[in-house]
Amino acid sequence: MLIEPENQTVTRFAPSPSGLLHLGHAYSALFAFKAGERFILRIEDIDKGRCRPEFDQAVLQDLAWLGLEWSGEVRRQSQHMADYQTSIDKLKDLGLLYPCFCTRKEIQAEIENASHAPHGPDGPLYPGICRGLRLDEQEERMNNKAPFALRLNMEKAMALAGELLWKDREKGEIIANPEIFGDVVLARKDTPTSYHLAVTVDDHLQGVTLVTRGKDLFAATHVHRLLQALLGLNVPEYHHHKLLKGEDGKRFAKRDKSLTLRSLRDEGKTLEDVLLMIKL
Ligand code: GLU
Repeated sequence: MLIEPENQTVTRFAPSPSGLLHLGHAYSALFAFKAGERFILRIEDIDKGRCRPEFDQAVLQDLAWLGLEWSGEVRRQSQHMADYQTSIDKLKDLGLLYPCFCTRKEIQAEIENASHAPHGPDGPLYPGICRGLRLDEQEERMNNKAPFALRLNMEKAMALAGELLWKDREKGEIIANPEIFGDVVLARKDTPTSYHLAVTVDDHLQGVTLVTRGKDLFAATHVHRLLQALLGLNVPEYHHHKLLKGEDGKRFAKRDKSLTLRSLRDEGKTLEDVLLMIKL
């Protein structure tokens, strides 16, 4: 574990290299940089299907253009699968994970047939089809090489962790209610992690003391707080910042090509122009 000088605020920017950075990212990166004394860069590249090396390189160029310097080595999640596996093993030892063999279609059909289908921040909650599988049934399916995901038994996990709090710099003390996500997927057969697990483990290992990110990830923090408790990880403070919107009132997205930092740079815009556009 990293030992930080006392009271030093460590922040990070953690983009996924699945597209070019846009003005919304510039806001987020500069927000993180300004909020701390030490600023770290992490590339969240676990999704092999969507992440590309050229976008990874573009992140570095764009941040340099914004005048942002990060401290230490860049951490690329794809190079740290062993760390996530260790955490998965810990949760397995606690008896909190179960393999889920359901296809999307099966889950959808079950939800459609259910008399009530609770929804969470990511859509309908997993209806628990595989939660009750016996050990021998699980083993048989695994031996048959059926693809599976590992889900967290949310009820059991929350009972073990007890009541949890986290601090948001804007909203104050928050009671964690990760149950809004139901039995979240924490790993897939070929990728021993999910966004929730990787981000929580990394923030701990990188010594991050203040997590700054957009309000769209506010709800995810409930799950992250639970994982911290279960895995014995540090609990940073959080600041979920506003999401920058374009003139049309819509959020910037990777698919909007016109306001990528690269296109602005190519048009001859300067850092000062960007700062005016994001009003930071
Ligand atoms: N990688 C995430 C994204 O690009 C951000 C993760 C986080 O800040 O926790 O949206």
